[in-house]
Amino acid sequence: MLAQAQADQEISAQYAIMARLAAEKVHVELYSKAVEAVKNGKDLDEFHVYNCSVCGYTHTGGPIDKCPVCSAGWNKFREIV
Ligand SMILES: [Zn+2]
Repeated sequence: MLAQAQADQEISAQYAIMARLAAEKVHVELYSKAVEAVKNGKDLDEFHVYNCSVCGYTHTGGPIDKCPVCSAGWNKFREIV
């Protein structure tokens, strides 16, 4: 899908795919932490999850200056957990 978008020089499609890949990387990290906590009979430590309303990037932790994917400001992030 990404290769096809690159071949077609579909910049917006490439951008959307890269944003989704970045978001999925964070999802894998969160899922791995949850699995590890369950294996140890524990709950996850309290944490906050934010989503960039521009590109969909998922961020955990405290505020950041800008989205690492689309450079949107922190004011474009919404807390989802
Ligand atoms: Zn973004």
